[in-house]
Amino acid sequence: MKYDSIIMGGGLAGLMCGLECVNAGLKTAIITAGDSALTFSSGAIDLLGFSPDNTPVSDPFNGISNLINNQSQHPYAKIGTPHIEESLTAFQNYMAEAEYPMTGDVTSNFWRLTAIGGMMPAFLGPVGIEQLPLNHPMQGIQRITIVNIAGFRDFQPEIMAAGLKRQLISSRTKITCIDIPAEKLGIEHPHLPELRSIELARLLKSPDHLSIIADQIKQQTPYADLFLMPAVMEQRDHESVTSELSRRLGKPVMELATLPPSLPGIRLQQAMKKLYTRKGGIFISGDTVETGQIKDGHLLNISTRHNPDYPLTSNAFVLATGSFFSNGLKSCRQTITEPVFDLDLSLAEKQQPWSSSRFFDSHSHGFITAGVKTNAHFNPAIQQQTIHNLYCAGSLLSHCNPVAEGSAGGISISSGWMAARHIIAQHHNHAAQQA
Ligand SMILES: Cc1cc2nc3c(=O)[nH]c(=O)nc-3n(C[C@H](O)[C@H](O)[C@H](O)COP(=O)(O)OP(=O)(O)OC[C@H]3O[C@@H](n4cnc5c(N)ncnc54)[C@H](O)[C@@H]3O)c2cc1C
Repeated sequence: MKYDSIIMGGGLAGLMCGLECVNAGLKTAIITAGDSALTFSSGAIDLLGFSPDNTPVSDPFNGISNLINNQSQHPYAKIGTPHIEESLTAFQNYMAEAEYPMTGDVTSNFWRLTAIGGMMPAFLGPVGIEQLPLNHPMQGIQRITIVNIAGFRDFQPEIMAAGLKRQLISSRTKITCIDIPAEKLGIEHPHLPELRSIELARLLKSPDHLSIIADQIKQQTPYADLFLMPAVMEQRDHESVTSELSRRLGKPVMELATLPPSLPGIRLQQAMKKLYTRKGGIFISGDTVETGQIKDGHLLNISTRHNPDYPLTSNAFVLATGSFFSNGLKSCRQTITEPVFDLDLSLAEKQQPWSSSRFFDSHSHGFITAGVKTNAHFNPAIQQQTIHNLYCAGSLLSHCNPVAEGSAGGISISSGWMAARHIIAQHHNHAAQQA
């Protein structure tokens, strides 16, 4: 079967591109090797969190306009502010359709808390990730209770409390850490400290568990203005875990992404994938695209590890295989490569070191700006020859620093959407020529 579009990589960028393509009626397949970066993500979408001088950005679209003026090769500059806005609206519409709404204020970032008590500016978040206002994040919050399941190691309330105290709250704010005994929840697992969030979620499925957690919290610390707990419970069909707990406790409850795997990121990925397949998209997981046949500046087909003798053909292709984290880019001591097509890359400047001696350098490491070089339509090139029906999207793109900018989710969504829009336009042109 010949597809209208084949997307390599099923992370945030690939799924966003896939949704837009199937929604426009294109025969679309996503082929993906393994877990995506969403498995590690907080589940919130960062659009632009920091300006070049490392100060938090309040109005992200204003920040993007400034960034575009100074960095013409940045992916946001190739997309343009109106299309970035359109892509995020499309994303929100899809998530509402998927019954996993993502909310935010178009004119302002909010703070999301991290599990070590830090704060990151974010743009969209699911219900359950409390959106703290940028100016006065802890206004009206005098008492915070951090809740954990006793024995669960991937969330450390004391570390979170220390982080919170260090940076954002007044000395009058009282932080209490409490543990809910595992036996109260009926968990009799011999290796509880070895369980990851996803395994714990499987054990905490019953509606009774929420009641027990609420009762335990009330018994141990009835009074708090904000409750924080690790994301270790499955979403309910009718109401989110945190909404239900908030209702029972009468105060906001905020979920925090734990050490990986991170449930909020996994929920986002599952919601997108479910909607994509419901709309008729094909999702092939567990296979790796290894190579492709290119002729006259066009990619004719691709071959995968498991089916090398059955190349897949399509009119258009998208490479959304991620960055180093997902093997979309590979590095050795001498250089960095894109492993499927050996595309032309933009590497960190020679005079700039690839890594900083400070691991948590606020400007991050030089290698993070490396990525695939593309033209204004996100077409890459091999030895400077453009591949006209191949588009790139997501964290493999060059000329940006998603870590320092706090722009990773926004770049993946808007570039995935933009790649789809180019393919849809190409598809319609082709159909018009045939008619
Ligand atoms: C730890 C961590 C936390 C983060 N937290 C946040 C956050 O809170 N908010 C935010 O906005 N961003 C966050 N990000 C960044 C953001 O999640 C990523 O930038 C974004 O999800 C990248 O999406 P992507 O689709 O470009 O790539 P990926 O998510 O990396 O997906 C690429 C996919 O392609 C597959 N693949 C690779 N090679 C091949 C091949 N040859 N054939 C087929 N498939 C292939 C991979 O298996 C993978 O599934 C975080 C990133 C990390 C690593």
